[in-house]
Amino acid sequence: MKINSSIATLPGSYLFAEIASRVSAFEEAHPDAQVLRLGIGDVTRPLSPYVARKFADAALGMATQEGFRGYPPGEGYAFLVEKINRHDYSSRGVSLKDSEIFISDGAKTDAAAIQELFSQDAVIALTDPVYPVYVDSNAMAGRLGEYVDGKWTRAVYLPATAENDFEPPLPDKKADVLYLCYPNNPTGTVLTRTQLKKYVDWARENDALIIFDAAYKAFVTSDDIPLSIYEIEGAKDVAIECCSFSKTAGFTGVRCAYTVIPHSVMGLDGNGEKVSLNRMWKRRTGSKNNGVSYPVQAAAAAVYDTKGQEETRQNIRYYLDNAGVILDTLRKGGLSVYGGVDAPYIWMRTPDNMPSWNFFDFLLNKAHVVGTPGAGFGPCGEGYFRLTAFGSRESAAEASARIIGIL
Ligand code: PLP
Repeated sequence: MKINSSIATLPGSYLFAEIASRVSAFEEAHPDAQVLRLGIGDVTRPLSPYVARKFADAALGMATQEGFRGYPPGEGYAFLVEKINRHDYSSRGVSLKDSEIFISDGAKTDAAAIQELFSQDAVIALTDPVYPVYVDSNAMAGRLGEYVDGKWTRAVYLPATAENDFEPPLPDKKADVLYLCYPNNPTGTVLTRTQLKKYVDWARENDALIIFDAAYKAFVTSDDIPLSIYEIEGAKDVAIECCSFSKTAGFTGVRCAYTVIPHSVMGLDGNGEKVSLNRMWKRRTGSKNNGVSYPVQAAAAAVYDTKGQEETRQNIRYYLDNAGVILDTLRKGGLSVYGGVDAPYIWMRTPDNMPSWNFFDFLLNKAHVVGTPGAGFGPCGEGYFRLTAFGSRESAAEASARIIGIL
C-alpha cells in the first residue's frame, strides 16, 4: 500500500500535543505545583440548562415511536437551518436561502474539508499567524509545496503583527483562496467593516475565494465589527462562511456547526466554465457524511430561543470579563497585549523578545502557567504568546498576577 506522503511528512506534532507533553512532564516532576491552564481554546462553563433540557428531551424522544428519527437530512434539519437563517442573517439584513446553509459537526471539520473543492494547483493565501487547520488541511492534500524554514513554498503568507496593527496586507501575488478568521484565533484581534471590505474587493477583482471563519462571532461587542462577512457588499459572490456553536454556546463537546455557501459563489472548471460551489459541496457532503444527530440539532436550535440566548450570552459575558481581567493586569504590569475585547484570546508580546517556546517553558517553570507559544501559529507568531479567557475568573486573575510576578 502506497501512503499519502503529504500526511506522513507533515512537520512536527500538532501544537497542542506538544504543549500537553511538556505540561505532563512538568507535572510529573513537580506533583505539588498548581498549574493554571490558559492554553487550549476549549470552553469550561457548563451548557445552558435550557439548551441541555431540550437536548435531553430530544434524546428521550428517540425512545418513543413518535419521537424516533433515523438518518438526519444531509444538510441539516429544516427547523435548525431556518432558525440560523432568521436569527443570524435575515435579522441583520443579510438575505440567504435556507439551501445555502449546511449543518455539520464542527467548523474544524468544514474548514479542513472545504479545500476538497479547490484544484490541486490552487494557490492558498493565509494570514500569519493562523489557525493551523487551514494550513495542515491544504498541506495534507499536497497543495502547499515543500516545508522550508517554517514556511510552505507554495503558500502566500500575509503577516499580521503589531507593526501593521494586525491588518494583514493583500496578497502581492496571484492567490486563488484566502482564509480569514475574525474575530481572530490566535491574536484576538478583529477587522472593522471597512477593513474587511478591502479583502472582499480584492477577491472580486481577482476571481478569488474567501473562506471566512466566524467561529468567535459571539464575542463581538464593538458596533463597527461585522458578525458575518455577508454584511460586506459583494461578499455573497466570493465568500464561504464557517460558524460554530462550540464557542457561542459551549458546544465543543456536543458538536454542531454550520457553513454558508451562497448559490452565487462560483469556481472555474478546467474549461473556464463557472461551477456552483454550493452544488459541489452538497454533492461531496452527501457522499461523505450522514449528517448530525437529531438531539444535537435540537439542542443547537434551542440556543436561539429567548431562554437559550439569555443563558448562553451569560457565559460569553463571563469569558469576556475574564479577558478584561487578563488584559488589565498584564497592561498594568507593563506588557504589550492585544485582542481580548471582541474575542476570548489575549495575544501578548513575550518580554525582551524571548522566543515563544522559551517563554512557554519559563512561564510553566516559574509561574506554573500554561499558554500557547505564538510560533505554533506561524513564523510571525514568534515573539508572541496566546492566553485564553475560557477558564474561571479565579484562574484568569491568578494566572495574570503570576505572570506579572515573575517578570
Ligand atoms: N475555527 C477556529 C478559528 C477555531 O479556533 C476553532 C476551535 O478552536 C474551530 C474553528 C473549531 O470549531 P468546532 O469546535 O466547531 O470544530
